[in-house]
Amino acid sequence: MRETTPPVARYRGRFAPSPTGPLHLGSLTAALASYLDAQHHNGDWLLRLEDIDPPREVEGAATGILNCLAAHGLKSANDTIWQHNNWDQYRAVCLKLLNTGHAFYCQCPRRHQDELGRCVDDCKRRDLEAPGNNLRVTLPTKNLDFADRIYGLVPAPTHNFDNAILWRRDDLPAYLLAVVVDDIDSDINHIVRGDDLLHETHRQLALYQLLGKAAPKYAHIPVVLNAEGKKLSKQTGAQGLDNTQALWNLQRAAQHLGLDVSPHEAQNHPLALLEYALQHWRLPSARLQ
Ligand SMILES: [Zn+2]
Repeated sequence: MRETTPPVARYRGRFAPSPTGPLHLGSLTAALASYLDAQHHNGDWLLRLEDIDPPREVEGAATGILNCLAAHGLKSANDTIWQHNNWDQYRAVCLKLLNTGHAFYCQCPRRHQDELGRCVDDCKRRDLEAPGNNLRVTLPTKNLDFADRIYGLVPAPTHNFDNAILWRRDDLPAYLLAVVVDDIDSDINHIVRGDDLLHETHRQLALYQLLGKAAPKYAHIPVVLNAEGKKLSKQTGAQGLDNTQALWNLQRAAQHLGLDVSPHEAQNHPLALLEYALQHWRLPSARLQ
């Protein structure tokens, strides 16, 4: 009898910025790492705009991000996915989890929640209704250690994180729900992102487990820090990128990822730099703890 080997799933990665401001060096570095890793594996690199939090969005930021990625030669394999189009899917998952008894409404005000932001008033037993309340999920707590491609084994936290908000009391989906549902919908099987999200991963793995879906493989790259050692972000004063300096921006992002950009192939043009970076791609080292 002829033996068959199971087909290996094509690599599907993504970059998923929030339109809360322009791309800066830190977000470009994350975009470049996820792009290069996908190309290195002959995979697809998808782009998703995480526009689920209108109060935090900045007008024009989404268009600015798309223009910036294009100016830096980072082309996605798909039409851009916009999370605001996916509300129905998020609601459907919530409904399913309510019907199976895994989700419940919680009316604990923020000031009454414990230090981990959990329900403290046993709301699950009280059969509360939707308006004005958070929808929470009871998450599994076992088998949540994972092997990061950069950090190695990342043990699950010892503290209890068994409930998390899925849908906010201000009637917006929570990041946890949107990111997991969209990654499942897009068949994302590899995630390369900043190591500021390393310890968010366990809750996401718990939700994958609850939904009966296979989780992706993760690689958490060291985030770019500012002079004070804080993550480069809009909140810490990161400057938006100048698209006319795309080569210079890409060189700095590539250097942060451990690539030597001194050879002349890396000094000419953004697309030549991307080609050079792809030829020399390997995941960066973990940040020293
Ligand atoms: Zn509660």
